[in-house]
Amino acid sequence: MAKQSAPVEKNETITLTFEDLTHEGNGVGKINGYPLFVANALPGEEATVKVIKANKNFGFGKLLELLKTSPERIEPVCHVHCNGCGLQHMSYNLQLEMKMNQVKNAMKKVAHLEHVPVHPIIGMENPLHYRNKVQIPVGEKNGELITGFYQKRSHRIIENTETCVTHNEVINDVVKTVRNTANRLGIRAYNEEVHKGVLRHIMVRTGQETKDIMVVIVTRTDKLPHQDELIKELTKTYPHIKSIMHNVNSKRTNVILGEKTKLLFGDEYIHDKIGDITFAISAKSFYQINPSQTKMLYEKALEYAQIDSNDTVIDAYCGIGTISLFLAQKAKKVYGVEVVPEAISDAKKNAKLNGITNAEFVVGEAEKIMPWWTAQGLRPDVIVVDPPRKGCDEELLQAMVEMKPKRIVYVSCNPSTLARDLRILEDSGYETKKLQPVDMFPQTGHVECCALIEKA
Ligand code: SAH
Repeated sequence: MAKQSAPVEKNETITLTFEDLTHEGNGVGKINGYPLFVANALPGEEATVKVIKANKNFGFGKLLELLKTSPERIEPVCHVHCNGCGLQHMSYNLQLEMKMNQVKNAMKKVAHLEHVPVHPIIGMENPLHYRNKVQIPVGEKNGELITGFYQKRSHRIIENTETCVTHNEVINDVVKTVRNTANRLGIRAYNEEVHKGVLRHIMVRTGQETKDIMVVIVTRTDKLPHQDELIKELTKTYPHIKSIMHNVNSKRTNVILGEKTKLLFGDEYIHDKIGDITFAISAKSFYQINPSQTKMLYEKALEYAQIDSNDTVIDAYCGIGTISLFLAQKAKKVYGVEVVPEAISDAKKNAKLNGITNAEFVVGEAEKIMPWWTAQGLRPDVIVVDPPRKGCDEELLQAMVEMKPKRIVYVSCNPSTLARDLRILEDSGYETKKLQPVDMFPQTGHVECCALIEKA
């Protein structure tokens, strides 16, 4: 029954015991059944809390003092409040448990599939320094360039936060060198308030296996001042730099990369390897950010797909063809579809690079191409989908059902939209058989999942 009013008032200080976690990792404590969400509190803990918001059915509080601490509490490695990795105060075991619960809850509450087995989450042995790509904004303070993450809910840069514990360490180092060199050369930062200045973002990407480094320098202006000196300094310091790109973003926008990307040094892409397959990755292409966990994820997707040499397979949202090429090693034919043209051009390059001739890639929106393929009579045995956080479009789900594959493997980075889509597939004659969560993003509240769905 809905509560008539909140049992606490704004600015009141109370003592609260925490019993649960939200999927963002905030503590949940209850006052006569009324939940109060408090950042940095763990189940089993007791604390004094100041109420900062009291809605009718739930409220938010700020932790003032811990009276009882959980054995799962650990000292965060990083104390910067960028809100990028909000779970650092939890033991890694608790982080994994929380993500398992997130998946199970979505399956139960959204998909009504509580009977489907969720296998124990695959975690990392060392859950730090895993990120192979960063995009860091550039600003100025007292006339000097600064780089760093934005403070939570603002565009204020937290100065020089290149120590992030989730980044591959060489990335932090390269960002610092680009900033210091640009600073020495007198290159000015972009100022979004007046839409003036030059340097907007520094993007760095590495190949975990190859150690290749790509640097993308994003500017408002068409010209990058002192570009030769900058290239010289960077390539002298880092022999592993295989690509330096200049991206121009002249718009007033929060989107980081602009339309135009120019080559300044080396190739337009770098390489990395997952398992036996080598991938070329260009600046604008999506590539999973945690390579060792990606291998686990793709192996699971392949195991669930149970492909044999007579099978035709579709890989929707294929990016640079990562999953497609894994599948192509076993299947008769693989079709990949992806909306970013640069990614499809990488996918084609990657097929060639690995001597794979049975994969075909198409640029387009998966929700448009899939119905078109259906109309053309394409009837795959297996479909793999790996959509962005918003999940699959209804049109795409409909097209999948019409194609009548014997199996669907759904790779998802958002348990809620996964659960929503699984419910739609269940109602259309498919059954979810099992789920495998994988921790691709330690220290953050995000969780990846692989689901096996079969024709009922
Ligand atoms: N399977 C790939 C990519 C997964 S990420 C991998 O593991 O690397 C999701 C991909 O979907 C991104 O490459 C993104 O560009 C693409 N995408 C987003 N919306 C899309 C749409 N409507 N149709 C096709 N691809 C889309």
